[in-house]
Amino acid sequence: MSQLQQITVLGATGSIGLSTLGVIARHPERYQVFALTGFSRLRELEQLCLKHCPQFAVTADEHSAAQLQGALRAAGLSTQVLAGAEALCEVSAHPDVDAVMAAIVGAAGLQPTLAAVEAGKKVLLANKEALVMSGDLFIQAVRRSGAVLLPIDSEHNAIFQCLPGDYARGLGAVGVRRILLTASGGPFRETPLAELEQVSPEQACAHPNWSMGRKISVDSASMMNKGLELIEACWLFDAKPPQVEVVIHPQSVIHSLVDYVDGSVLAQLGNPDMRTPIAHALAWPQRIDSGVAPLDLFAVARLDFQRPDEQRFPCLRLARQAAEAGGSAPALLNAANEVAVAAFLERRIRFPEIARIIDEVLNSEASTAVESLGAVLAADARARALAGEWLNRHGR
Ligand code: NAD
Ligand code: MG
Repeated sequence: MSQLQQITVLGATGSIGLSTLGVIARHPERYQVFALTGFSRLRELEQLCLKHCPQFAVTADEHSAAQLQGALRAAGLSTQVLAGAEALCEVSAHPDVDAVMAAIVGAAGLQPTLAAVEAGKKVLLANKEALVMSGDLFIQAVRRSGAVLLPIDSEHNAIFQCLPGDYARGLGAVGVRRILLTASGGPFRETPLAELEQVSPEQACAHPNWSMGRKISVDSASMMNKGLELIEACWLFDAKPPQVEVVIHPQSVIHSLVDYVDGSVLAQLGNPDMRTPIAHALAWPQRIDSGVAPLDLFAVARLDFQRPDEQRFPCLRLARQAAEAGGSAPALLNAANEVAVAAFLERRIRFPEIARIIDEVLNSEASTAVESLGAVLAADARARALAGEWLNRHGR
């Protein structure tokens, strides 16, 4: 039997997708790319196909698929190019696939990620929005199918590394008191509050420590990213929201910590480079080279910690509120945030209006139980409609 693992990379043209392919390329004896997907940036997707020779590529629509198919055929590749959301699910659940990197951004990643989970794959989860939206349904599907879910988000990957192997018995049972979720505080950690009304998308996307896609960069600036991660941590580690404390740590060297009842606190450290959690999850339970430079503690010199200010970062409060409410509230929060962030990136609203939109959506739409994927998608659609109405009333 071949030892080569077949990998599907959903969102291959994005920041996480490219980092994943970088790690995979260092280990051709272990990994083979089975499928690559991309929504835009067709030229980049073509280049990636030429380099990794996948069996399948998936684009947004028939037109772009035909274009890519033509280019790949002309280059002598046998890659089959498919189009659309159903094809994303097909290449995730395909019987030949061993592991799926879920690195599509936002709600668009939910169904292909769930398809990988339901097919019992090893699922490397970067697409936190998928888990935030569908929470319990997602985790139940993991249990049912026997999928192996490994967190790629650096914080959750760190927590996973600091927990004992049998943490699924329950945090209390393995002696965990709380989880300390670190946050850089983003580019506006010290910006005078009044100036936040004027900040631009470029400023919001200029993250001090991490280079990431635009949506997650804005989420980091508003700290909604940490709010989504709080909800993500609750589902991944079966924690209650009060068991997860957010700690601002501007150097982004400690990627999170676990506090045990005996007073021990375990942390995972490393340079802020996503190739570390990606390599960890790809090879788990083994370790492989990721290409990340060794951590130089003498260069880091100091580690600082601060309590987050919820006046400055209202999104953190809103996310905690949604985590406590449960049901459809996290899906509403996520969808309202996606609409608001897109509007901010298009300069239709000011930065602090992101939180105002989410607040209004959460206040006007009661949380309901979510017992099916249909209910999750309905909550997502309602929140998008409400946020859209807000934009029509107040947006530019
Ligand atoms: P990105 O914007 O760089 O890439 C997103 C990818 O998704 C691209 O390949 C794009 O083509 C694809 N995509 C976008 N819309 C799509 C749609 N409607 N249908 C199908 N595909 C679509 O984003 P990123 O920074 O790589 O983040 C990806 C995910 O990983 C996000 O959920 C993010 O929160 C999470 N994450 C990212 C980082 C990071 O360092 N970048 C860290 C932790 C978690
Ligand atoms: Mg993170």
